[in-house]
Amino acid sequence: MKIVCLAGGIGGARFLRGLRTAAPEAEITVIGNTGDDISLFGLRVCPDLDTVMYTLGGGINEEQGWGRAAETFTVKEELAAYGVGPEWFGLGDRDFATHIVRTQMLEAGYPLSAVTEALCDRWKPGVRLIPMTDDQVETHVVIEDDRGRRAIHFQEWWVRLRASVPALSITAVGAEKSKPAPGVLAAIEAADVVLFPPSNPVVSIGTILAVPGIRDAVAAKTVVGVSPIIGGAPVRGMADACLKAIGVETSARAVAESYGLGLLDGWLVDEADADVRVEGIEVRSRPLLMSDAVATADIARAALGLAAEVQRAEDAG
Ligand code: GDP
Ligand code: CA
Repeated sequence: MKIVCLAGGIGGARFLRGLRTAAPEAEITVIGNTGDDISLFGLRVCPDLDTVMYTLGGGINEEQGWGRAAETFTVKEELAAYGVGPEWFGLGDRDFATHIVRTQMLEAGYPLSAVTEALCDRWKPGVRLIPMTDDQVETHVVIEDDRGRRAIHFQEWWVRLRASVPALSITAVGAEKSKPAPGVLAAIEAADVVLFPPSNPVVSIGTILAVPGIRDAVAAKTVVGVSPIIGGAPVRGMADACLKAIGVETSARAVAESYGLGLLDGWLVDEADADVRVEGIEVRSRPLLMSDAVATADIARAALGLAAEVQRAEDAG
């Protein structure tokens, strides 16, 4: 079986670990969000790609959900001693090495997809990880504060401001001119099923779908999503602040509807949202907390089960 999964950071990575367990024989291709990418200290940082790579490769800081395990922060402290920031973005020493290798390869002319493949040679994530695009797409957030109305990088809004200032709009800058990275469309076309893990619907899944060509390719497939919203709130993080910016209510139903007609075939919601119905989509409820490896694999199994159910219904109809 061939599975394609679109993925952001923590929610995507944890789900993928469960999916690998639930479908050990499957060929899994992950299309990673790069809208969160940022250049810091002259280095290219790809937070979502790295979270997937470290989580599946066994190098993640489990409690935090991002960054490396057994991390130290000497370089960051030394930079701060020079008065060189930003100090609000936590880059550890081990993590720095990843960004140095990536930047060196990018500057030598390799596209991000080739660089990601090279980094994965070390981590052996057990999936094929492809960035959504090799082109630069950066998510920017328009805010208004005492300095007036201005656009800031998503990371500044998310990490420095903790989304405490309302986002007036969120834009994936460069998306409309970007092209899917090599292998992305072919993987989707070859897939038996496309899964949306419980990743942020706006700045993870939404950004990937904004790369021209990806949305149409996905829509042609059997698509099942797992809700990141349980009982009207995100499980972790501030996805509600992102949904508000695009005028979508923070609910499992509204998120499914926000993907638009003809995209999702199945939607897995938590038992707390068992009453959710969405026109044109098969909705199933079950516990959706990825509390441990077993629970997470069960969620992935349920997503695949729903996909098979939808396909059987289509074949019969
Ligand atoms: P990020 O890039 O690190 O923010 O990660 P993602 O975009 O992949 O995922 C973030 C989303 O994961 C948030 O909206 C959370 O609500 C969701 N999430 C985190 N843990 C869980 C969980 O255990 N269950 C469900 N259903 N969603 C989760
Ligand atoms: Ca992210």
